[in-house]
Amino acid sequence: MKDKDCIFCKLANGEIPTSTLYEDEDFRVILDANPASKGHALILPKEHYANLYELDDRVAEKVLVLAKKMITRLTGLLGCDGYNIVQNNGEAAGQTVFHFHMHLIPRYKDDGVGLGWKMRELTEEDKEDILSRI
Ligand code: AMP
Ligand code: ZN
Repeated sequence: MKDKDCIFCKLANGEIPTSTLYEDEDFRVILDANPASKGHALILPKEHYANLYELDDRVAEKVLVLAKKMITRLTGLLGCDGYNIVQNNGEAAGQTVFHFHMHLIPRYKDDGVGLGWKMRELTEEDKEDILSRI
């Protein structure tokens, strides 16, 4: 299914021209318009799923295999030193475009890209609370 008001549906399906690094029957991989680093790319499924919660299992099975293939090839081409794979779900998690996508962010030594978070201690209370719910 496509969403006629979704920009990523249009990009993924070639209705809006974009910088395509890879395409197959299920996905298009494009350059992010606001890259965190040189080569920052997005994997877009051609069908519309708002986020990982909604992603079809068949597509979900393929997306990490594609991420592996892309970063393996791009690491050599870009000469980067590592990769972050980022995938945001929900506004609270920083998602701004509500069509599932996976960020492939090349990392270069001392590039200053800030993707970190402040590390806290796992409290006994939180641990027990979470484990009691599982
Ligand atoms: P997120 O915050 O995870 O939803 O990420 C959305 C990403 O989409 C951001 O990194 C944007 O820079 C990128 N983006 C938004 N519009 C476009 C566009 N037209 N072409 C390429 N990337 C885009
Ligand atoms: Zn869409």
